Amino acid sequence: MRFSQAFIPTLKETPAEAEVVSHQLMLRAGMIRKLASGVYTWLPLGLRTLRKVERIVREEMDAAGARELLMPGVQPAELWQESGRWEHYGRELLRFKDRHDHDFCLAPTHEEVITDLIRHEVRSYRDMPLNLYQFQTKFRDEVRPRFGVMRSREFIMKDGYSFDPDDESSAASYQAMHQAYSAIFKRLGLNFAVVEADSGAIGGSFSHEFMVLADTGEDAIASCSCGWAANFEKAQVAPPRGEAPQAAAEVVRVDTPGAHTVEEVAAFLKVSPAQVAKTLVYLADGKPVAAMVRGDRQLNEIKLKNLIGATALELAPASVIQEVSGGPVGFTGPVGLNIPVYADQELYAAEALVVGANQGDAHLTGVHLGRDVAGATKADLRIIEPGDPCPRCGKEPTFARGIEVGHIFRLGTKYSQAMGAEYLDAEGQSRPIIMGCYGIGVTRIVAAAIEQGHDDWGIIFPLAIAPYSVAVLPLAIDGEVMETATKLYDDLSAAGVDVLMDDRDLRPGVKFKDADLIGIPLRVVVGAKGLKEGAVELKHRLSGDVDMVPVAEAATRLA
Ligand code: ATP
Ligand code: MG
Ligand code: MG
Ligand code: MG
Repeated sequence: MRFSQAFIPTLKETPAEAEVVSHQLMLRAGMIRKLASGVYTWLPLGLRTLRKVERIVREEMDAAGARELLMPGVQPAELWQESGRWEHYGRELLRFKDRHDHDFCLAPTHEEVITDLIRHEVRSYRDMPLNLYQFQTKFRDEVRPRFGVMRSREFIMKDGYSFDPDDESSAASYQAMHQAYSAIFKRLGLNFAVVEADSGAIGGSFSHEFMVLADTGEDAIASCSCGWAANFEKAQVAPPRGEAPQAAAEVVRVDTPGAHTVEEVAAFLKVSPAQVAKTLVYLADGKPVAAMVRGDRQLNEIKLKNLIGATALELAPASVIQEVSGGPVGFTGPVGLNIPVYADQELYAAEALVVGANQGDAHLTGVHLGRDVAGATKADLRIIEPGDPCPRCGKEPTFARGIEVGHIFRLGTKYSQAMGAEYLDAEGQSRPIIMGCYGIGVTRIVAAAIEQGHDDWGIIFPLAIAPYSVAVLPLAIDGEVMETATKLYDDLSAAGVDVLMDDRDLRPGVKFKDADLIGIPLRVVVGAKGLKEGAVELKHRLSGDVDMVPVAEAATRLA
């Protein structure tokens, strides 16, 4: 590609709206442009990297035996009502009506649609194991879209789903995806960690997150030499918007069950009784004031406004929750609650700690020990913070920040049961299909790679996902210099190398700056001075090593 035709609108200045380095550099390098909050256009340069990421993910998914399909981004409400998530998903789900007044949503994820497909197509145990995946645009109406494509509202995800007849087979499918993901992130050239995680709104019993290590990551990871690792901070830590937090309410633990019916709680919370299922209920003066559907931050956030002005809060004990939810509750230990609610009712929890780390149903953030939880110790609350011993081996874990780029879950029969996806086993018995789901944030990976690879001059892409592998920089655009550069460009192109030749009539300094900015791993400078010695200059972006190479050898050295 010739730079003059590539449409790479680089910027000299750092755009003021970009807080983190990846966002700044993606704008400056001409990779993306913003259309609306959390909605971006991928320009040709950015798209090249995105496609390279996608290709690696696709190759490894295919190699692991998964098959690609493509599901719709617009989905009917009926399916989401069947799974129960039309009510539970909260405001991240963007809903709208068509001209016939039918409810639809823009897909934030595809469990419902794939389960609907499978319940019609999979009949027998012989049809499984089955693993299907897609690359699809998701829409999540995030409370605080930020950091460019790192936390956007529209983004591309590779999402995959496995279907198995029994737990053993499902565990093998999960394991295969665990390995495929490790292979993917290795090939992408990223420094990553795999951590145990809670399952968030998607639900399920077992999950791992793949984290790219970077100081600007929104998640905090503890890991130990024994192999234990966990995401110990799931908070969306928000800086106060010029508003001081209200004084924290006193939170106490209760040991005696109260008596509240589902209807009472639902009426108080102004939700339907169905929404109270699988809920942690908070009591003030013995009355329920807020509820958190397990892992559903969105609902948690909405209900937190009920806590404003409360003075004493209790968490209902398991027996009450069981009663109001009408089902078993997964959490065991005592938990505390984060109270700081900012005056604008939208922000919560700075300096977050996690209570019940890795306990799927007791995952609360923003807890301030001694302030929020009377009389409880860190051990009671399963709090993990720097300086604490590893819960598995007792040694001291190391702490780092990370960006969640992949997430794998074992879903069990959550969706197959809710939506009636069954198969006939060898004895002709009908059983629910066991599912797993596997997500990779394809667009987020590009930003994460830049968070991990950059310096003062710009992006340093790993070779595997650099938009171009080689930049050829002729210092003049005519005569022997341009002839030599063009020949090199043609030879490299013919050898299948992704090469960008800067054929613009600009000062060398500008060309050097742009090549560094957009993160091309190898740079070849063709100048009159070098050519006198019959050589061109080869520079590695990462190491800065410079080599003079005979013109005749340059193409073979680079190919
Ligand atoms: P997060 O904790 O960052 O909000 P999530 O846990 O909600 O992510 P999943 O439902 O696990 O996300 O989706 C799978 C992957 O999709 C994530 O691991 C992440 O890489 C990517 N992803 C999720 N939300 C966004 C977003 N708003 N912008 C870009 N990528 C995202
Ligand atoms: Mg999220
Ligand atoms: Mg997450
Ligand atoms: Mg996740």
